[in-house]
Amino acid sequence: MDPDAEGDAANKAFPLFNPLPQQFFASTISCSLLLFACHTAPDERVVKAIAAKKDTVAARPAVSVAAKPKQKIYLSFDDGPNKGTPVLLNILEAEQVPATLFLIGEQVYGSRAQAATWSRLQQCSTIELANHSYTHAHNHFTAYYADSAGVVADFSRCRDSLHLGNAIARTPGRNTWRIGPLSITDIDKTKPAADGVQQAGFTLVGWDLEWHYTPPNLLLRESADEMLRQIDSLLTSGHTRHKDHLVLLAHDQTFEDPKDSAALCQLIRQLRQRQDYTLDVISHYPGVQ
Ligand SMILES: [Zn+2]
Repeated sequence: MDPDAEGDAANKAFPLFNPLPQQFFASTISCSLLLFACHTAPDERVVKAIAAKKDTVAARPAVSVAAKPKQKIYLSFDDGPNKGTPVLLNILEAEQVPATLFLIGEQVYGSRAQAATWSRLQQCSTIELANHSYTHAHNHFTAYYADSAGVVADFSRCRDSLHLGNAIARTPGRNTWRIGPLSITDIDKTKPAADGVQQAGFTLVGWDLEWHYTPPNLLLRESADEMLRQIDSLLTSGHTRHKDHLVLLAHDQTFEDPKDSAALCQLIRQLRQRQDYTLDVISHYPGVQ
């Protein structure tokens, strides 16, 4: 290959200090005449060539900057179906928001109203239904977790009676995690029972942040703004069980109150306005099948 064929085109067009051969003057005159002709009467082929070049430049893809992956927030609601569940469902349906509801098996059969709510729950397309045991320990947690086999049987009964299509479960009254190798137990005495539930094929998902309520009147303790501030803080600091993933726990019964249901709407809308967050169901949490 001719080494002169390569190099800086600008230097080749305007060689410095080189003697100008005779042919240069001839070609300069020809080019000038051509430019004059082009200026006065543009050749259709030249116009087409320029337009084609412009189209090529315009069609070139813009330089893309890799978007930062969104941080995920998993809304989860415990203890339904109860009187707060229809209100919660109204909100989730209206907002078309993904959420996971951890249900107590015997609550489904507690009343006609709860059975009707159960029917509605099964038809809501954006939510996921998961296992919160059949009895919820009847709120006697110490005795419940002392009987590991009984705990496993309680979760199996809930799964079978509700025909749940997944193995996602949450221990009543305890923040326990068993997702593959991820194993976190908040109270050591419950460890054998939690291990037994995992060995029976369940995946236990706890929570990173709880939206608390005051037990006597079931009213929310924190405002939507305060919850958003805590969510921001946990995700920014990386203090969640899995980086960039946050599981929020709330309870159905609190949303029977109109002020508290309005607070949930506000939080959902605030979260959806944030470009860096996305809402999802717990079956999409890392490691959960
Ligand atoms: Zn519960």
